[in-house]
Amino acid sequence: MTLSWTHHASDGAARLGTLHTAHGDVPTPVFMPVGTAGTVKAMTADSVRSTGAKLILGNTYHLMLRPGAERVASLGGLHKMMDWAGPILTDSGGFQVMSLTGLRKLDADGVTFQSHIDGSKHRLTPQRSIEIQHLLDATITMAFDECTKFPATEAETRASMELSMRWAGRSRDAFVAREGYGQFGIVQGGVFRDLRENSIAALSNIGFEGYAIGGLAVGEGQEAMFSVLDYTATALPADRPRYLMGVGTPDDLLGSVARGVDMFDCVMPTRAGRTARAYTSHGVHNMRNARFADDAGPLDPGCACPLCTRHSRAYLHHLFRCEEMLGPMLLTWHNIQYYQDLMAGIRQAIGEGRLAAHSAAVRAAWSGEPK
Ligand SMILES: [Zn+2]
Repeated sequence: MTLSWTHHASDGAARLGTLHTAHGDVPTPVFMPVGTAGTVKAMTADSVRSTGAKLILGNTYHLMLRPGAERVASLGGLHKMMDWAGPILTDSGGFQVMSLTGLRKLDADGVTFQSHIDGSKHRLTPQRSIEIQHLLDATITMAFDECTKFPATEAETRASMELSMRWAGRSRDAFVAREGYGQFGIVQGGVFRDLRENSIAALSNIGFEGYAIGGLAVGEGQEAMFSVLDYTATALPADRPRYLMGVGTPDDLLGSVARGVDMFDCVMPTRAGRTARAYTSHGVHNMRNARFADDAGPLDPGCACPLCTRHSRAYLHHLFRCEEMLGPMLLTWHNIQYYQDLMAGIRQAIGEGRLAAHSAAVRAAWSGEPK
């Protein structure tokens, strides 16, 4: 049997569940740390595991260029290479390729593009993207799609969505079903309700183990994103996991879970960790700020990560001021821990039927100053 998902409880549209995969079970709602090039930047696999993360994301575009999908396969696959025995979801490469403006040429069958590294020519089609993800040994494979540009007219969005739906069929044909592995289709259609509904119908007709919502968090703003989710998330098949791609801030996660989304990924906590931005239970802080220079307290008193249990805010501030690499390492660890703790709190609240009150309390605490 391919990958499956069990639904345990609901609180409004929010859902508590478990994803069953060949590489272990994952409680949902879940946030996936991003391991773009075969590493969650600045983190060892052990440190990622210690945060409670169960599922991580790998990147087809980056890995096909370096070290190459066939090379990853010959080295035993991405799990072995990264020392990550848990499940891995890989994106299809579509999003990165489409953003190579001026370096790519789109046709009905795929995309020809130049590497951003050395200018060498490559081609991605639905078949090749699925083959690469298979070579990487991805637990969850994503269908190859075109991420519709934003803003776009309704006609442009329709044409792009229809191309993605043809590619979804080809992606499904290329997928090799294996025990505990699965493939997700990606809903497109921009901010147009009828196009989103057409896309959901087309994907449901093909049939996938899960469904992703693509083309959001591309500049439309949180309000527009939430209104798309209002009519998209709960319209997806109820017995399959729903994944909102590339989202988001802690506030985005609270709002999207409440609208029926089960899975998320975003570079935000790791990227922020390298640029001195700390996500905490009392809001976001720039650790370069001089007000932390003499602050002997922990970054987030309730957090169990090594930064919060062993070091002061003043030390973290000092590390960033001196551009020591330990600063990004410790803060990335903390930010991932914060996101995992946020999701654990959300799951507990859904199970107890108090997500709205829990989310309100979490949001209220963000506006507080660090204690
Ligand atoms: Zn911490």
